[in-house]
Formats: sequence, structure tokens, C-alpha cells
Amino acid sequence: MEEARYADIIIDISHEALDKVFQYRVPLSLQERVKTGMKVRVPFGAGNREKEGYVIRITKEPSYDVDKIKDISGIEEGTLTVESQLIQVAAFLKRRYGSSMLQALKTVMPVKKRVRRKENFSLSLNMTHKEGEALLAQYEKKHYAARARLLRCLLSCQEMPAEKAVKESRLPLKEIKKLEAQGILNMRRSVAYRTPFHFSKKQGDGPLLNEEQRRAVEQFCKDFSHQNVKTYLLYGVTGSGKTEVYLAMLEEVLREKRGAIVLIPEISLTFQTVRRFYERFGDRIAVLHSRMSQGERSDAWERVEQGEADVVIGARSALFAPMKNLGLIILDEEHDGAYKSDSSPKYHARETAIYRASLSGASVVLGSATPSVESFYLARAGEYTLLTLTKRAGKAMLPSVKAVDLRQEFMRGNRSVFSGELREKIEERLQKKEQIVLFLNRRGFAGFVSCRSCGTVMKCPHCDVSMTYHKDGKLHCHYCGYETIYSRQCPVCKSPHVAAFGLGTEKVEAALYKEFPGIRVLRMDMDTTRKKNAHQEMLDTFARGEADVLLGTQMIVKGHDYPNVTLVGILAADLSLHSRDFRSGERTFQLLCQAAGRAGRGEKPGEVIIQSYSPEHYAITAALHHSYEEFYRQELAYRSMLRYPPCAHLLVMLVQCGTESEAALAAERIQKMVLQSQEEEACPVQILNPGQALISKLKDVYRQALYLKHESVERLEGLKSRLEPVLETHPLFAGVQIQFDFDPMNMI
Ligand code: ADP
Ligand code: ZN
Ligand code: ZN
Repeated sequence: MEEARYADIIIDISHEALDKVFQYRVPLSLQERVKTGMKVRVPFGAGNREKEGYVIRITKEPSYDVDKIKDISGIEEGTLTVESQLIQVAAFLKRRYGSSMLQALKTVMPVKKRVRRKENFSLSLNMTHKEGEALLAQYEKKHYAARARLLRCLLSCQEMPAEKAVKESRLPLKEIKKLEAQGILNMRRSVAYRTPFHFSKKQGDGPLLNEEQRRAVEQFCKDFSHQNVKTYLLYGVTGSGKTEVYLAMLEEVLREKRGAIVLIPEISLTFQTVRRFYERFGDRIAVLHSRMSQGERSDAWERVEQGEADVVIGARSALFAPMKNLGLIILDEEHDGAYKSDSSPKYHARETAIYRASLSGASVVLGSATPSVESFYLARAGEYTLLTLTKRAGKAMLPSVKAVDLRQEFMRGNRSVFSGELREKIEERLQKKEQIVLFLNRRGFAGFVSCRSCGTVMKCPHCDVSMTYHKDGKLHCHYCGYETIYSRQCPVCKSPHVAAFGLGTEKVEAALYKEFPGIRVLRMDMDTTRKKNAHQEMLDTFARGEADVLLGTQMIVKGHDYPNVTLVGILAADLSLHSRDFRSGERTFQLLCQAAGRAGRGEKPGEVIIQSYSPEHYAITAALHHSYEEFYRQELAYRSMLRYPPCAHLLVMLVQCGTESEAALAAERIQKMVLQSQEEEACPVQILNPGQALISKLKDVYRQALYLKHESVERLEGLKSRLEPVLETHPLFAGVQIQFDFDPMNMI
């Protein structure tokens, strides 16, 4: 006899009700056909009223008394709805990245707090006045009093609000809609959606594509029209016109009556890009991002659901937009770290996009000037199709790039943050009234405070991280918000030589004002951009030429296009190079190229100065030559030697507990379980000894990390799914919290 199978079903797929799961038996006749994500009919409640629900899991183990479990009554045929697809995506997130199904479902079905939109329709007759009168006579004859009243109203005025029509005719809206369906009435939606964007469509086409752009678009269109679904890597230097290529691809997709999702890493930093999409497609666009109001989000979501918008632009989570008939997903700046979620499930938008696309026969285009090592690797292996743009579009040339060795500056007695060469070039630009972008790569240790006598670093008492000195005279913890007074006396050795190291944007700003009297500086960092539209306002100010220098961190390197910027200075390129992270070389190279890409976007040639303590590092020398391939070759050699992604995959388990010893014990137990579970395996998953996480304490919670390594994703998935039930139910792990991270972006 066949084993009995059970299906977990959710009846209501609104975000708030996702945890209400009901179990049903899958009758033998349906066992071959019921799959995760499918819409089914089930008897519900005491009265066994038939309801529709979605299958979220199929299992052999019943969770309830078998006698009380009811049977699924049937499958809704031909309904591979958007919801079914999103549930399948949730199952993928759970399987690949490790999380509960509930967390995964909540990720793909975001809160849809229905901010009620008033449905304002206006009504008009869909016939000539004469035909209307004839119809009125018929209604009167049949004693359709309410309809006759409505018709009289509409015959006397051209158009009227539906609300008023309902009131005057006393015919319910439902009935009015029926008349619309019969072709008697027109109903026009008369209310504007809430949207934070007020760009509109421009007449005419974009620029004529150049040879390279055209070749990329043609290849895509040829595949697309033959339903030859692929993942493309559009690798094009900064300013090569990737956005124009996306726009042309989107036109093709819309022509075929399919929809598209365009992901941008951080939308508040890239309004210029959003504007270009609006100018091409007007109100077929819906934008989704985190700084929108609840009402704006809700309206955008609804327009996508209703099919009124067929191009969605947004950050990572827009990937789960309820787009029917999806034909294309684009990830712009696909290498960007913002595509990885930092809460469970810690999914990567790139892999998830490829999975979602596979469910609806859509293509995926990944675009970057500095592709992730992972993507380039897969493109070289033939898994992705490589499309290349080697030249800047239009007249602009790539800038010339030069490195300055800060060790030599120091030996020469220069204590300024600006090398002699950078200072000269800044002065030259100030005289010529050209603009400057100064970039401070501040990830890592900048701003930490330590004792120069004994070396003690001032750390947060709740987190194992160094605190940062701020201009307000206090030390701040960026992880938990703890603040304390900055004291020059060392708490350990009592020496009076405690001081702040490293550079902060505030310090550079002060140095600029001091060394270049009269200079106008815009400082853009976490502190100056807290307000809702602060980014945009600062960038607009800079674009209007009201400042000489735009000074900032990571956030200023993204897709801005200022023709008057002719000098880009990178103040300390190696601050990110020496962290204990296998991606640090890649991240440094990307930042340097993106920052350099801001120079010389117009007709005037650009120059880039990279200041560094290790200018011989390949991440820096490759950036000097604009050579991604040179960087990639060296980086891949390093990754393959140490078996880091893409040469192998990593699954990290983070064990957290309020008690230090319990966290350590749990990590050791997990290690033992893993070793035992694969005693027989010829090629076992490698497990690095458990130890404290890089940040060993956060908000008073202790953290241990285990790194599991293997070439095969499936092997890691298999191991994880064997561990999960034990970790969830075994009393030994009751007091600890365990999180997974697959191919992490940062070491944990
Ligand atoms: P990327 O996204 O690769 O950095 P963009 O698409 O932003 O490049 O293009 C850079 C600049 O070149 C933009 O100002 C754009 O309008 C212009 N551009 C792109 N393609 C062409 C073209 N075929 N002809 C003229 N100008 C172009
Ligand atoms: Zn803290
Ligand atoms: Zn000391």
C-alpha cells in the first residue's frame, strides 16, 4: 500500500494569516499531482464549507490525530497563479538559505496593509443619445425602475461620478458594473494613484544605439522571440550605456505582452536611473522601495496585481512583486552587496531571480561594470550568456587613473589626508571651476579609539566591536546604539594617550575647509542623509554646481552622472583590503572602479587619484588599468586555492545564546553531529572548527560560527535539511538560536 501523504495548507495568503496552517490528507488519486504551491479545494471548519487554499508543504508525517485529518477535495486546474509561483519561491528560499517556511512566506508575501483607496469611477453612456433613449423606453416597459433612473441621469449629463449615480438611481454598484460588462456603460477610473515620483514619459525614442549595444540587444531579442530563455551577464564598463540596453530589451518584452522586474541596489541613491525608465515607459511603471509611504506601496502593489503596471522597478524585495506573465528580470549592478538579505532567510536576489524566472519562462539579465566573481565565473563556464560593452557610449573617454603611495608621503613628512599630488589637482579644479568627488572607503576600522601606550581598544560593553568617535565628543556603538563619554585616560593602564585612529568623513571635511579656504563641501554619509529625501536633495545641489566637492562614503559611488566632475580622489583605498573577509579584494576593486567611473562622464577628460598604503595589491593595480580581467584572474586563483565561492560553496551556521558556555557547547554538538552523519561519505562536507564569530558578542548575545564547505550546493542543502529538524526539536538546542547563511557576503 502507498504511504499516506499529508499537505500543509494555508487558506488565507495575506501576510498576517500566513502562520495559520491546516493539514489535510492527499487522497491516493491525487498523490501524483499535488505539488507545493498548488491551489486546491478543501472542506473547511465544522460545516465543511469548501474553500480554496495553497499547498505549502507535503510530508509523510501527520502532525495531528490521523482520524481527524480531512481529505483534500480537489485541485484547481490550470491555476499556476502568481501566488503559486511565490509559494514555490518561498520553498526555494527555505531549502537554499535555511529558514522556517513561515519566515520564507513572509518574505515573498510582504505586508499588504490595505490602505483603502477610494474607488472613484465616473460613468458615461457607451452609445449614442438616440440608442440611449430607445434603451430607456425598454427599461420603462419592463419596469426596471432603478436602471431607468440611472439611464435618465446619464442621458441628462455626459459623465457622472459612480458614487453620485448609485445614490440617485439607488442601483447598487454591483449592478452598475454588470451594465458595464454588457457594454452599455463606460466606467473610468478617475483617481490618481499615490506615487512619490512625478516624472513623465518623454516623446520619441532614446539615442540611437551604438554597434556594441545593438549587438547585445539583438542577441537578446532573437533568443526572446524564440522563447529561448537564458541568463545573460551584461558586462559593460561604466558609462558604456547599459541602461539604454535594458530599456531596449524592456521594449521588446512589453511588445510581446510580458511584464518585467528591474532591480536596483539602493533606489534612493539612483533617482536618475528611475527617471530614465519613467521617461521611456511613463505610467506603465510601478516603483517599490522601502522609503515609500504605506499608501504609496499599497497602490503600487495593486497596480501590478491589476496588470496596470507592467514594469516594476525596485530594490531587492521588488523581486516578489505579483507580476503575472513575467518575461524578464533585470539586476542592475548585480555585484552589489545590497542584493543579499541580511535577515533570515538570507537570500541572494540573483539566485532567487533566476529561480523565479524559471517558473514563468522568463529571462534574466545581470548587468555590471565589475561583475561579481561568481557571475563572471558562470559566464566563462557557459552557464550565463556573456554580452560585452567595451567602450563608453557617446563622446566620453575612460579617465586616467594614478596611484599614490601614502607610505612615501608619510616619510616625506606629509601628515595631511591629502597627498601632494591630490592637493595640487584639487587646487587646479577649484581654479577651473570644475567639480571634485572625494571618496572615503570607510568600511572596517576607521574611527576606532585606542590607547597608544598599551593598545587597549575601546569596545562596546554589549557587543564585541570597537566604538567610533563622533564630533559630539562621545563614543558610539553602531550595532546597538550604546554611547559613552570619550575619555583621554585609558581605563586599563591609566595613560593619558587615548586617541581616535583612522579617518572619518567629518575629519576630512574639516581638513578640506582648513587646507582650501573658501571651498564648498557637501558631505554625504549616514549622518547627513537620515531625512527622507536627503540623498536626492544633496545630489541635486551638487548637480546645480552649488558645491565644489562631494565628499562621502560608499553611497556616492553609485550611478550618478555629473558631466562637470573631472577629478575623483580616493583617500585611502586599502581601508577595506585587510579585513578578514574573502571578498575584501573584490569589494575594494569594485569600489575603486565604480568611484573612478564618476570621473569624466562629460566631454572634459577625467582624472582619478587612488591614495593607498599598498598600491602593489592586485585589486589596486587592476583598477589602474581598468582591467576587470586582470583582477578576475588573480582573484580566481586565490579563491580556487582556498576553495571559496565560486570554486566551492559555504554554509555558515551562526549559533546564538545569552550564555557564553551554552553557545560554545551547542556549536561543538553540531560539529559532532555533522561528522557522525557523514562518516561513510567519500567526499564529505568540510567543517571548519567552530569558534567565536568575528563579532563574538552582539547586544549581550554570544555568537559562535561554524563554516561548512563543499563544491556541491545540493550536498550542503541535504546536510542542512537533515540538521534542521534536530535543531528545532531536540531539547539540547532549546536555549540557542541558529541561523544559516549560504555563501555569505560578509564573514560572520
Ligand atoms: P551605464 O549604465 O553603462 O553606466 P548609461 O546607460 O548611464 O551607462 O550611459 C552613459 C551615458 O551615455 C548616458 O548619459 C547615456 O544617455 C549616454 N548614452 C548611452 N548610450 C548612448 C548612445 N547609443 N548614444 C549616445 N549616448 C548614449
Ligand atoms: Zn553595542
Ligand atoms: Zn592603556
